[in-house]
Amino acid sequence: MHLLEILRFRPVPAAAVYFGLTRRCPLHCRHCSTESLMDSEQFPAKMFLRFADTFTEHNRPELTLMSGGEALLRPGLVRNIADRARAVGSRSYVLSGLYFAQKPRIPKAVRAAIEAVDHFAASTDRFHEEEVPRAAVFRVLHELLDAGKDVSLQITGEGPDDPYLADITAEVRREFDDRVPMLVVPLSPVGRAREWMDQHPQASYPATAAPCSLACWPVIGFNGQVTSCGNQDVMDGKVPLPAHLFLGHIARDDWETIRRRTLESPMVGAVRTYGPEYLAERFGGLSSCDGYCQTCWKLSTTPGVKEGVKQLTLLPSTIAMRQLVEQVSVDSGPLGFARRFGIAAYADLVTLGDGARRDLAVTG
Ligand code: SF4
Ligand code: SF4
Repeated sequence: MHLLEILRFRPVPAAAVYFGLTRRCPLHCRHCSTESLMDSEQFPAKMFLRFADTFTEHNRPELTLMSGGEALLRPGLVRNIADRARAVGSRSYVLSGLYFAQKPRIPKAVRAAIEAVDHFAASTDRFHEEEVPRAAVFRVLHELLDAGKDVSLQITGEGPDDPYLADITAEVRREFDDRVPMLVVPLSPVGRAREWMDQHPQASYPATAAPCSLACWPVIGFNGQVTSCGNQDVMDGKVPLPAHLFLGHIARDDWETIRRRTLESPMVGAVRTYGPEYLAERFGGLSSCDGYCQTCWKLSTTPGVKEGVKQLTLLPSTIAMRQLVEQVSVDSGPLGFARRFGIAAYADLVTLGDGARRDLAVTG
């Protein structure tokens, strides 16, 4: 499965689910959004497997995505979830920071986990390179490509003018003869990066309707709590959990329940269609400039918003608008998503690789 096939589903509500399998990681990247350590939280495998067991052939996510922390610290769990997903027709993906890359060969259990998934993505950037040298990352990718695995790189950078991005992307293209797609995303001031990175909240007042396409795929946190977008501050409890972002818990809810809440929650649907700032201003009279997600966090506790959104949801025009927004996002395709949420100057790199050529031929 090529990276494009994953990005194509990105605007489709409940088309995928993210498993955060562990917060633990042996690396110490200075930008780590999850602030992972080797003694960070980790919950029993059976909780995650119980939820994966609720997928059925007729009701399952198209994509089952796994990350951490370092998901491949639990290779048996990755393999078991991937096997369960495949058995009912869901394709799987794992993202790793390649903690094992300096070993002469990929460890056997890790290799088996990677073989079990349909796509393997590796993180690398200037912070990862302080932990895992570029040459070691390239060696692992060569080993996997030679075995016929679909792989990609996820690279974080500080913007279109970041010289690191120009250097790494050019070298990856040369090294792998354009066979490795890359998703280049902006560094955010969350987790450890918050300690040294300037924070400039993005606000767009006066409020316009700016849909949040990230409120599409449910995200399972390390403790099993499911939220509608996986915002790290929310998942870490750094801000009180906004009621409208909470979808359930995998220890008691099944996929059907999580899927239904993702699709039917009036507030999540309204955030997807209109964005938080428009809702806050229209129904709550809020006109602060806190930032996009910061405004979203206040929606549940701002008087008038919940009631206003409920009325809005009943209007036939809202249903039409919801379908239109989703269709526009789907029509903009994987490249559209990479331009909006990644660093636009590097968006085309998601198409590299044989799979990309095949997909582009299909979409014209
Ligand atoms: S590899 Fe990922 S999880 Fe591990 S420290 Fe680095 S950024 Fe954090
Ligand atoms: S706007 Fe709300 S739903 Fe969207 S990413 Fe931010 S916190 Fe999540």
